[in-house]
Amino acid sequence: MKHYDYVEWLLYKNKALSVDKLEEMENHLYNCDICMEIFLSLIDKEEIEVADVAIPEDFTNKVMNKISEIKVANIQAKNIQKKKSNFGFQFGTYVAVASVTIILSLSGFFTNFVDAVPRITSSIQVVEKRPNFIANVSNSIVNSTSSFLYSIENNQRIKEER
Ligand SMILES: [Zn+2]
Repeated sequence: MKHYDYVEWLLYKNKALSVDKLEEMENHLYNCDICMEIFLSLIDKEEIEVADVAIPEDFTNKVMNKISEIKVANIQAKNIQKKKSNFGFQFGTYVAVASVTIILSLSGFFTNFVDAVPRITSSIQVVEKRPNFIANVSNSIVNSTSSFLYSIENNQRIKEER
């Protein structure tokens, strides 16, 4: 490999050569550590300071803005995920409300309400009369809850029909 000497790199640095020669040397510079070392030795502290000034003052701000934009994008992505999990939360709430309804139904909280619907009253009375209550609890929950929900649906249907 043909190397360039100190003087040639000095001329290169001052762009005192033909465009073709500058291009040729530049390509060599990228691939040659020896010449790169010579070239870098020509760059003194003053020139580094000049280069430092050449970097736009708002460079740091621009970088920081980009970083916060990325953060905002991440937060928005998280919000989308939160919206998705909201469905799960609402479903969980529904299950909790349904569970409370079942417990209150069994403890007779809704007795006054269900008295208006004889069919449900009879089903709850059957539950109360059963001697092995615990063994039949799961069945009773299913029966009383489904008829309870059915009665609500019926009531709504009646209201809508009126
Ligand atoms: Zn070289």
